[in-house]
Amino acid sequence: MSPGCRSLSRTFFSLSYPRRCTWRSLTSKAALCSSASAVSPTPPPLSPTPPPPSTALYGHCLLFTGQRASAPRRSPPPRLPPARRFSRSACPPGPMELKEVLQVLEQLAPLSLAESWDNVGLLVEPSESRPVKTVLLTNDLTDAVMDEAEAMSCDLVVSYHPPLFRPIKRLVQRDWKQKLVIRALEARMAIFSPHTSWDSVKGGVNDWLVGGLGSGQVSVLSQAAGAASQSHKLEFTVTSAEELHGVMEELKACGSESTLQHSANRPDNGGVHVSVTCSDSALTPSVQTLLRHNAASHSLSILKLEKPPLPGHGQGRLIALDQPVTVATAVQKMKSHLGLSHLRLALGSGRTPESSVCTAAVCAGSGASVLNGVTADLYITGEMSHHEVLDAAAAGTSVILSDHSNSERGFLAVFREKLAVRLPDSVTVAVSKADRDPLEVV
Ligand SMILES: [Zn+2]
Repeated sequence: MSPGCRSLSRTFFSLSYPRRCTWRSLTSKAALCSSASAVSPTPPPLSPTPPPPSTALYGHCLLFTGQRASAPRRSPPPRLPPARRFSRSACPPGPMELKEVLQVLEQLAPLSLAESWDNVGLLVEPSESRPVKTVLLTNDLTDAVMDEAEAMSCDLVVSYHPPLFRPIKRLVQRDWKQKLVIRALEARMAIFSPHTSWDSVKGGVNDWLVGGLGSGQVSVLSQAAGAASQSHKLEFTVTSAEELHGVMEELKACGSESTLQHSANRPDNGGVHVSVTCSDSALTPSVQTLLRHNAASHSLSILKLEKPPLPGHGQGRLIALDQPVTVATAVQKMKSHLGLSHLRLALGSGRTPESSVCTAAVCAGSGASVLNGVTADLYITGEMSHHEVLDAAAAGTSVILSDHSNSERGFLAVFREKLAVRLPDSVTVAVSKADRDPLEVV
């Protein structure tokens, strides 16, 4: 509580809705991104770990939860849903409903972690979804993988890359992806794609990829942010507690689907200072309401709230190795980790295969946009353009390229284990044998 202020009598308005952190000035800078978690070559657990408790920004915050509270409270940090671990003994012996399997998939990697441009989640849903007995995991859904899925009477294909990405206006045989969707529907097979939610989640694709180099301190390159139902904070002054009550009743009336939380204190010089947080949809009607009150309209300020970062989740990883390795050793380690006999290497300017690698930045798939500008001894990704490689090498950063999906596919086996233990024995989870990168060294 601020010196010289005293709490307003704790009159609570039942403005409902979840309590949220009132983060005001958090940014997505790298300083906030560090998860500082040590990793080992063994991939970390997949279950999204809720971030540690954080301190709400106003110590005198009164949160409206629909009931009286006797003391200021802290808002809980944003939470990802806990992964539900099925007790095999408690599981029904039969197959699972599709929606139950989808719940497990989304608990392992919440779709809210996916990039905004992505197309994740359930992409194909048969009209009569059948109980799920067989799940096939693949990096890409190709004709060969669909043949495999049909041969094993697969009920659900989890395709890391979304087979449907761009909007479509027809479903015809002329387009190979549309043909796959038609085949899936005719076989009453569902298709789910996690894509960048797997990249982002703590313990997901990028943590698996960076784990190939050894243990070290890992941080996220592009920090994921949690959902924020409240996007703005309105600060204003009213003349009395009675006026505050009336104002809050009006705000409550205009914020039907919004969330409203407020704190108030009465400084010694009179008046009541109020902070209200609200959602995007409640902003305009809330401001209109406040402008009808003289004191509030003259003192009103509006702050945009940042979404809270989710430590450990996000795109790309930077590792400071516990034991530096040479570039040549890093290549051997990554060959072993990815199960490949060949990688492509661009040595950074002035570097040799015996140069030391203390830090490495990784991004599964096509990582140039995430890696661009990151200071590290080594970049590891699936693919970069010729000019992007030249830029990195000129900056002294060596680059290892594996081809796109080779930097992702190995995670399927890790994910299979995590998924299988959360499903009953009656559900088979398999990794595709037909799935492979279209490029090969000849
Ligand atoms: Zn990819």
